[in-house]
Amino acid sequence: MLFWDTTYILVLIGAVLCMAASGYLKSTYKKYSGERSQSGLTGKDAALRILKHAGINDVKVERVSGNLTDHYDPRSKTLRLSESVHDSASVAALGVSAHECGHAIQHNTGYAPLRLRSALVPVATISSHLGMPLVLLGFLLGFDVPIPGTEYVFNLIDIGILVFGVAILFQLVTLPVEFNASVRAKAVLGNCGIMGGTEMKSAQRVLNAAALTYVASAAAALLQLFRLILLRGRRG
Ligand SMILES: [Zn+2]
Repeated sequence: MLFWDTTYILVLIGAVLCMAASGYLKSTYKKYSGERSQSGLTGKDAALRILKHAGINDVKVERVSGNLTDHYDPRSKTLRLSESVHDSASVAALGVSAHECGHAIQHNTGYAPLRLRSALVPVATISSHLGMPLVLLGFLLGFDVPIPGTEYVFNLIDIGILVFGVAILFQLVTLPVEFNASVRAKAVLGNCGIMGGTEMKSAQRVLNAAALTYVASAAAALLQLFRLILLRGRRG
C-alpha cells in the first residue's frame, strides 16, 4: 500500500530521469570515444601531464576495470581511470581524465565543498540505507510510538525523513564538487596544451552529460523526499 499509492509516480519520474541521463551519457561518451585527439595523448598521459602542471607529485594514476568507473580516491591519493579512458587517446577519454584530475586539484587546494563531501561520506552511507526502512517501519508501527514508562512519544516517520534528508544533502553537496571539477578540467586541458577549439567543445559535451547524471539523481532523491513528506501529511 505504502509503495503503490499515487505518489509513487514521483519515484517513477525520478527513475526515468536517471535512466534518461545515464543513457544520454553513454551515447555521448560512445560518440566522442571515436573522436581521436590530435595530441595523441592517452587518458593516462594527460593525467600525468595535468598533475605535474598543477605541482601535484604524490597522486598515483591507476587503471581500473569497468565502464565509466573513473574516480579520484582522496584517501589513497589515487586517480583511477577505467580502461577505456586510461589507454585511449579520444577526446572523451581526455575529458574524463582531466575531470578526475580536477578532483585531485580540489583535494590538493583544500576546496571546501570537497572537504564537506568527504566528511559526509560515512553518515550519508548509513542514512541512505537507514532512511527508507525507518519511514516504512514508522508507517507500520503507527505515528506516535510511546516510550514505555514515560509520557513521551517518538515518531519514526519523522526520524526516517530526517535521516533520508541527510543522504540527500550529500547528493546536493556533490553537485558543486562535480561542476567545479569539470570547470577545472576545461581550464587545465587548455593550459597544458592538450586540446583546444572544437576538441574542447566535444570534451565539454561529455562532461556536461556526466554532470546531468548527478543532477538527475539529486532530483530523483528530492522527489522521493517530497513523496515521503506527502505520505506523512496524509497520515497526519
Ligand atoms: Zn567527478
